[in-house]
Amino acid sequence: EEKYDQGLKKSRSGFGERLNRFLARFRSVDEDFFDDLEELMIESDVGYEMAVRLSDELREEVKLQNAKSTQEVSNVIIEKMVELYEEAGANEDDSIHLAEQGPTVIMFVGVNGAGKTTTIGKLAARYKQAGQKVLLAAADTFRAGATEQLEVWAQRDGVDIVTGPENSDPAAVVFDAVKKAKDDHYDILFVDTAGRLQNKVNLMNELAKMKRILTREIPSAPHEVLLVLDSTTGQNALNQAKLFKESTDVTGIVLTKLDGTARGGIVLAIRNELHLPVKFVGLGEKVTDLEKFDASDFVYGLFK
Ligand code: GDP
Repeated sequence: EEKYDQGLKKSRSGFGERLNRFLARFRSVDEDFFDDLEELMIESDVGYEMAVRLSDELREEVKLQNAKSTQEVSNVIIEKMVELYEEAGANEDDSIHLAEQGPTVIMFVGVNGAGKTTTIGKLAARYKQAGQKVLLAAADTFRAGATEQLEVWAQRDGVDIVTGPENSDPAAVVFDAVKKAKDDHYDILFVDTAGRLQNKVNLMNELAKMKRILTREIPSAPHEVLLVLDSTTGQNALNQAKLFKESTDVTGIVLTKLDGTARGGIVLAIRNELHLPVKFVGLGEKVTDLEKFDASDFVYGLFK
């Protein structure tokens, strides 16, 4: 909870405080009130559809609860946001699927700069601390420095890594890594991938090839394909997500840089429009700045 507190400072000053200011000058629950509220939510990236639904349901709920004071209305808003979030993902599992036997394989996809490498570094530290034998695969062989960046994390975390030469076939790195994970009995393998969206067809073919190789070596793999999205890019992140979702079987979202955005509402839009669980959120650049997503902590963090 403390992490959300720190990490959501900007969203709070953007969204939470604006809402609180808005509520402070609010006199009666009339049409203008709800119109303005709807606008505020759209600006906070909760998505148009979600904003309209929220304000519609709030109209009802405020009436039903006969909420009059600012505090009462604010509580209703928070309750509704958590409820709508949880409802939108009622059938979704936000835990990480582990292999029943042998190594668990988690692939990370997303555009360059979204935070894949950093997220892997943070997660690897966590699993290592939990006593797991962790292996990293640096399958982003195209971006200059990507392999070195992951090597720095591997060293810092004290975990092993498989790399390949620059511009080599990323599928070869994946092949070497999955073999090593099997042969040397690793518990978990994290696969970093390239994110060159300039060449969508190539990128998607490349991801498909990696998946095939993983599945050939370990039939149940990959156990997760996590799409990493930069929350500061707002609606752009949503559009990227749609693209990746169409071409790969994404199993969950990691939403990074929530500490750097005033638009934390994007979390609601993702759940509502993509129907994918947000599994982790990035709340800073440090190794500990990664949290399992919790809707209630998150929404309360926005308004606190
Ligand atoms: P990749 O290209 O997808 O592998 O992205 P990187 O992991 O290299 O991240 C790009 C930049 O975003 C780096 O400078 C990271 O330190 C930064 N970054 C990643 N996650 C977060 C986060 O949750 N919060 C903040 N503030 N920065 C982040």
